[in-house]
Amino acid sequence: MSVKLIAVDMDGTFLSDQKTYNRERFMAQYRQMKEQGIRFVVASGNQYYQLISFFPELKDQISFVAENGGWVVGYENCTGAKATERCVAEEGDVYDALTDKYLAIGCSCISPNDQRLQLLSQMVEEYQADGVIDVILQACHTYAVESLAIKRHLRQQHDLPYMAIETDYSTADLGQLSTRVAAFIEML
Ligand code: SF4
Repeated sequence: MSVKLIAVDMDGTFLSDQKTYNRERFMAQYRQMKEQGIRFVVASGNQYYQLISFFPELKDQISFVAENGGWVVGYENCTGAKATERCVAEEGDVYDALTDKYLAIGCSCISPNDQRLQLLSQMVEEYQADGVIDVILQACHTYAVESLAIKRHLRQQHDLPYMAIETDYSTADLGQLSTRVAAFIEML
């Protein structure tokens, strides 16, 4: 059986402890792979842009499976779709228009928060999401209070896997979150 593809992980395998590799030797090996019709794939939990920085001269020729194969198709939180999916009406009374716009934002301080559920359903269908990760920012604890309702909605209405993660948005929990997200993606 002939070899069609070679896939490598990066950290602790392809890369040395200093995050380098022998470029000259690899380029010679890559030329051989090309001649033999073998595809080279980099598969890693690292971000796409970090991965291509290791292969600047080959980035358009080789394939990358980055971020554990996950793809964020939509971001619903307060600086994402929630803030922009509805515009302020340009007709009628300006104060009524502003009030309607801001009361319709699915803010987790509002209960019941049907607007958020509706927007989530809309996004899940539009982007054909395979799963939902609920990002609970410690700066707004009401997200944590609402998370059970979100989980039930996604399970019951869309039969979708759900995971809640809590973060203070610093880089201190990056490794831990990355491991949890990788496990979630693997389960999908
Ligand atoms: S209070 Fe929290 S949920 Fe509401 S808009 Fe602000 S950050 Fe978003």
